[in-house]
Amino acid sequence: MANDVRAEVPNAVLEATRSLLWVDTPADAARVAAALVQGLGGDVVPADAADGSAIPADLSFGEGAPVLAAARPATSARTLLDRYLPTFLLDARQALELSDRVERLAESASTDVLTGLPNRRMLERSLGRLADSDAVIMLDLDHFKAVNDDFGHAVGDDVLRSFGAALLATVRGRDTVGRYGGEEFVVVLPASAHPDAFLSRLRDHWLAVRPQPITFSAGIALSSGDPAEVMARADDALYEAKEAGRDRWIWAQAGTHTTTSTPGDFVESYLGDALSGDRTGGVRQTLDLLDNHVPYEQIVVDLLAAAQCEVGERWQRNELTPVDEHLASGVAAAALDALAAETSHVDVSGLTVVTCSEGDWHSLAAQMFGESLRSHGFGVSVLGASTPVDAVADFLDRSSCDSLAVSCSLPIFFPGVIRLIDAAHARGIPAIVGGRAFGTDSRRALHLGADAWAASAQEAAPIIAGWRSTRPTVDPAPVPLDPVAAQLFADADALGAEAMQGLARSFPAMAVYDEAKLARTREDLVYVVQFLAASLAARDDTVFFEFLGWLQNLLARRGVPPQALPAGLDALRPGIVRVDETAGRLLDAGNERLVRSHVA
Ligand code: GH3
Ligand code: MG
Ligand code: MG
Repeated sequence: MANDVRAEVPNAVLEATRSLLWVDTPADAARVAAALVQGLGGDVVPADAADGSAIPADLSFGEGAPVLAAARPATSARTLLDRYLPTFLLDARQALELSDRVERLAESASTDVLTGLPNRRMLERSLGRLADSDAVIMLDLDHFKAVNDDFGHAVGDDVLRSFGAALLATVRGRDTVGRYGGEEFVVVLPASAHPDAFLSRLRDHWLAVRPQPITFSAGIALSSGDPAEVMARADDALYEAKEAGRDRWIWAQAGTHTTTSTPGDFVESYLGDALSGDRTGGVRQTLDLLDNHVPYEQIVVDLLAAAQCEVGERWQRNELTPVDEHLASGVAAAALDALAAETSHVDVSGLTVVTCSEGDWHSLAAQMFGESLRSHGFGVSVLGASTPVDAVADFLDRSSCDSLAVSCSLPIFFPGVIRLIDAAHARGIPAIVGGRAFGTDSRRALHLGADAWAASAQEAAPIIAGWRSTRPTVDPAPVPLDPVAAQLFADADALGAEAMQGLARSFPAMAVYDEAKLARTREDLVYVVQFLAASLAARDDTVFFEFLGWLQNLLARRGVPPQALPAGLDALRPGIVRVDETAGRLLDAGNERLVRSHVA
């Protein structure tokens, strides 16, 4: 019912409602409310100026004064307001709750519980914004373990809390402070500050307030732009301070740190291990990054994922076999597990089940997505590759999860994606999808019945958090796969085989093909039919066009002449048209593009 009304709401109302998500200040709220009311043909007047014709509405946000909507009797605004305002207010309230909740979630995932200081993750974000010559100070309590051993963990905790408070009392406006882990803390001072003076003040303050006679050591390094490098130098200097007898600080030399593993050379040297299936080596290199202070999410998203993309690209260039690819994926999975074991994340309530579409070769993308989501403070269960839809459905029943995330690498697996979404919806669970198959916006995903699409875990996090605060109503009725697409998927093998005969007539070069080459050609023709079907299923022609472009490049690398693919499409044509005229036209459009690009 509410949906029916909303379908008629003018755009201005939807826009205004949507922009409420970004309301930060009362001024923003007033602006949005004004846009809404004016969009409806009314005026906004301050509360005390409202006369009898105004419709009182609780449009106050935060600390702001109430904003009242006054409708001119001559306009239809009053009717419109009567009709839409309740829905609008409901939306607005939900939107504000949602943004509140996302904020709280982000806060709990970035704050250290014991000291209330920003945690390592949060620090890493600040470190990512280092300016040249900012000073990074790494601090570590001396012989702290002895406090735990002699007086117990609770006393140790008290020392940590006190030290955190001492740091907070000593830092100034633009300084950053956080707990890096255990009894290690990091302070970042802007280039204009004086680290020696800061540390002297800290020492004086600490001597006055410390609950136990404990000292600290520190290493100072000036930033040169690379956060991991400056952290490593500060760490080296801290180590020197410890070696020199503790209770002191030491300045790091500029640019003297040589790391065993840096982001720059990681991908190449990691791939050396990954492609030879050396798990120990690959895991060690990955953990070295962590030791060298490369931020966790950067390791997962920028480095491991980048290495895996490189594997995919080399495979597409025909430089790797499927076995190489599997070996590398196995190493990446092991590295990801090791990373997860080394870093603990605050688990916030809720559970997202992450799965791959049936047919996907491996679950690495889903695992990386899950790991990234976990680092944002979400409970996550990642299911393995090729988990049958029925098994996923069974798990949804058992796990009391609140959302399903589906990763899909190739559009030809869309039928499986639809069945996963259906399984979630039948249980009242909303589904979000992502992965290469969906392209760069939400259109394909929404046509397949998904409730949302996200390009990354960072983008998915607020959406899933929103679902947790306000569970969306999902339609339990299955979204049917486009019937022509279903027919083409079912007939793909037969249509491919049929086209081989036509191709043999129109493309004489095939006469000298050996068995392997013939098998590959047939396989490619079957893929053409499947991608055509996927294109129809997602109602997006670019699925098909992109595939043809990719296949044309692959064939060129295999030394196949450029006219082969158009000839193959022609050979497929009679069979495709027999299934459906429109599908035939899409095939022709793809063919025309190929010929045009070849001529150009
Ligand atoms: P050093 O001067 O060389 O730094 O010696 P240390 O004893 O301070 O260093 P070490 O790294 O050997 O020990 C650090 C100890 O900190 C070990 C660990 O149990 C303790 N620790 C880490 N986190 C916490 C915490 O949250 N609470 C308490 N009470 N202890 C912690
Ligand atoms: Mg330590
Ligand atoms: Mg210590």
